[in-house]
Amino acid sequence: MSRRIFSATSIRTFKTLFARLSPQDCALCGSSAPDVICAPCEAGLPRLIGPSCTRCAAPLAEHSQDVSEAGECGVCLAELPYFDHTITAFRYDFPVDRLIQAYKFRANLVFTGMFADAIVARVLEKAGAGIHANTNTDDVEQLSRSGQLAYPLPDLVMPTPLAAKRLAERGFNQSALLGRAVALRLEIKFLTDGLQRVRETRPQSGLKREERLKNVRGAFACDAHVEGKRIAIVDDVMTTGATFSEAAKALKNAGAIYVEAWACARAAQPHH
Ligand SMILES: [Zn+2]
Ligand SMILES: [Zn+2]
Repeated sequence: MSRRIFSATSIRTFKTLFARLSPQDCALCGSSAPDVICAPCEAGLPRLIGPSCTRCAAPLAEHSQDVSEAGECGVCLAELPYFDHTITAFRYDFPVDRLIQAYKFRANLVFTGMFADAIVARVLEKAGAGIHANTNTDDVEQLSRSGQLAYPLPDLVMPTPLAAKRLAERGFNQSALLGRAVALRLEIKFLTDGLQRVRETRPQSGLKREERLKNVRGAFACDAHVEGKRIAIVDDVMTTGATFSEAAKALKNAGAIYVEAWACARAAQPHH
């Protein structure tokens, strides 16, 4: 079980990276940019557009017969995930996949802010009421309190916990960094240790859907006070949603009433 986001080595890497990245060039095209990625490159990043499952955000084929009245896809209906809703910023495709890999495996933490902004923009878009990502957070809170948001923002944000072994290897939990940045922007309470990993699992990559579900079954527990709470779980990528679902299950077992999955990117064809 891990209770830390950073190790000492990762703090050193972090400092070196920042020293190296100033002044900044766009991480994709190399032109000088005020942000990690220049505006034209950011506008070209792959997004999930068109109708999608209200629960897992998987793209829905046009005129799909296999959709519930609530707009859930066939896969969700066959085995309902424990989370209630999904918000995702990008499609897990080139070059977002490369950016996330760089973020995760090469400690390219400069992407944290950009990814967090992208998630927050989608959350506010979903919350509706005509607000945008650059809306003052006080205004968002005001709208939320007066019931003008299309849905209430969660009470708590939590990351999916990283296995202790992987935290030691990598030096940081990318989901925790991302989750904290998102929570800060939305002024929602962030709980690093809300979820705990109670058993080690194999990496999910390369596993099929059924194997993924089996691999993470019973992997999480929650000892935080979440009774009656609405919670958003943050992770960098959603593939089949198996990890999110197991994490949501632990939260629901602990009394959470509504659990959302917030991911930076989602695989467009998660079921193959
Ligand atoms: Zn660029
Ligand atoms: Zn679905």
